[in-house]
Amino acid sequence: MQLFWKIWNTGMVTELLQAGDPAAIDIGHALEYRIKRLFGRALAIREVDAGSCNGCELEITGLTSPVYDMERFGMHFVASPRHADMLLVTGPVTRNMEIPLRRTYEAAASPKFVVAVGDCAKTCGVFKDSYAVVGPVDRIIPVDISIAGCPPEPTDILRGILEGLDRFSHKRNTAALTPEPGGAVR
Ligand code: SF4
Repeated sequence: MQLFWKIWNTGMVTELLQAGDPAAIDIGHALEYRIKRLFGRALAIREVDAGSCNGCELEITGLTSPVYDMERFGMHFVASPRHADMLLVTGPVTRNMEIPLRRTYEAAASPKFVVAVGDCAKTCGVFKDSYAVVGPVDRIIPVDISIAGCPPEPTDILRGILEGLDRFSHKRNTAALTPEPGGAVR
């Protein structure tokens, strides 16, 4: 009885969920449209932490939260590069992650689509010149687009993916028209 009395008197201790950034909703709808046109289904993303401090991962995780809820726009994370349309890479590439990153890239289906998230992925950021770092992501694998920020906010990540999809569309069309040895067009 004392317990119910305490619950009744304490009231609500959590905060009401605030609406997310309105710009993210607009970008999300633009993404939904592009993804449907390009893939005819959801965009499967494989996230690779190549050595980040996990700050970028916090923002990426925010995309899956009820505030941003990116799955409603047709984007979801997958556990294998073989199931992925896009690789989302964070961090400077550390010595330990160089080979796993190369293997992940090789395992992804062609045409490959790579988005580098955060200043570390682009320039090594605060980890530049560290003995443990091999270099930025584009020194190890080809990158289609880099998203600046330390860390970039979820809206910036969505905006970067949207821009990246335009480049990917061009790349895919170009690949489709490239003649194979012997003259056949793929
Ligand atoms: S860009 Fe910033 S938040 Fe992201 S991994 Fe580097 S130091 Fe961490």
